[in-house]
Amino acid sequence: MIQKRIAMGKNKKIALVAHDRKKRDLVEWAKFNRDLLAHHKVFATGTTGTLLEKELGFPIIKLQSGPLGGDQQIGSKIVDGDIDFLIFFWDPLEPQPHDPDVKALLRMAVVWNVPVACDRSSADFMISSPLMDSKYERIVPDYEEYRGRTIPGTESTAVERAAELENEKTIATARAAQKR
Ligand code: PGA
Repeated sequence: MIQKRIAMGKNKKIALVAHDRKKRDLVEWAKFNRDLLAHHKVFATGTTGTLLEKELGFPIIKLQSGPLGGDQQIGSKIVDGDIDFLIFFWDPLEPQPHDPDVKALLRMAVVWNVPVACDRSSADFMISSPLMDSKYERIVPDYEEYRGRTIPGTESTAVERAAELENEKTIATARAAQKR
């Protein structure tokens, strides 16, 4: 498969998320690493962000609370290339109402080859990596091959089928307008 490269600058766009029983861990970790984090652009889900901002004393871009869509917002930012690093202390011992969102966020991180730390020791290794403060190019598959796949039961590829559907919609709209 052909690959693409996505550039990360020296200053990273980092997302921090912690489930309730992991928030203390994340706050302690972030306080210990405050100076390393301070020059990056930090995003967080609502409640995590409010706690961190109070403890760290620098501005954090706060999204919705996780169960209200915050995890999905971070996933969407990963897709748009607006997050290049995820620290997500999820709780393995507590069922979460937004479990599908948690899974979706972790999946998006892997689809786009975004580094993820789900516990303190991984976060320690990541934050102390020399790559943290240098430029880096993430290698991701070139998904054009996937976009151009053939849809079973049709002759068309997905891209062609989308164009056909758009065309059919335009013709139907024009016909409806003619009848009026
Ligand atoms: P919260 O969301 O920071 O708003 O608590 C975290 C989560 O549960 O995903």
